[in-house]
Amino acid sequence: IIIRKAEFITSAVSVNGYPEGPEPEIALAGRSNVGKSSLINKFINRKNLARTGNTPGKTQMINFYRINDEWGFVDLPGYGYAKVSKELKANWGKMMEEYFSRRGNLRAVIQVVDIRHIPSLEDEEMHGFLRNRGLPVLVVATKADKISKGQWGKHLSQIAKALNIPDWRMIIPYSAETGLGVPELHQALEEILAM
Ligand code: GDP
Repeated sequence: IIIRKAEFITSAVSVNGYPEGPEPEIALAGRSNVGKSSLINKFINRKNLARTGNTPGKTQMINFYRINDEWGFVDLPGYGYAKVSKELKANWGKMMEEYFSRRGNLRAVIQVVDIRHIPSLEDEEMHGFLRNRGLPVLVVATKADKISKGQWGKHLSQIAKALNIPDWRMIIPYSAETGLGVPELHQALEEILAM
């Protein structure tokens, strides 16, 4: 994929606010602060189209982007922030449930995890939930610049094991700092969008 154009469309908390259109869509899921916004910005090569470094738990909206006038990129609200209230957690669940059940043009989900850590219970649950819905899930392990290259394999295989992924080479190591993994992610999305 060559990103010619990338624009922010809208933020929504429920189906009424989703942009219309039958265009294929790819969503990003991950723990708050894992680096989803940074991943998007690096991926589309814009400094700050997706707002980064917000207080975790605060960005409780679904953010819609449009790429090349032809497909959608969706940043789902992050999960797993310990300090949010029960009410916020319930809201999050409702928002996600609604998105996944109502968005027929959703083609695949990129689940973002931190390469340094074993996936949390919530990462595992998210992964299971997505697979149960029959969605293709691509796992991207970001912040790879924070550990040495020699450690990547070990960390990726631990992540693969926790998420029941048969081969750790299916996980894309990524860095929003260095651009590692950007070509691989472009390639993977191209294949998904061509299906
Ligand atoms: P989000 O809440 O998932 O959207 O997370 P952000 O994209 O806002 O990132 C959270 C923090 O992690 C910010 O301080 C980023 O600068 C930092 N960060 C994100 N990705 C990377 C990465 O690949 N490498 C490094 N070193 N820091 C990152």
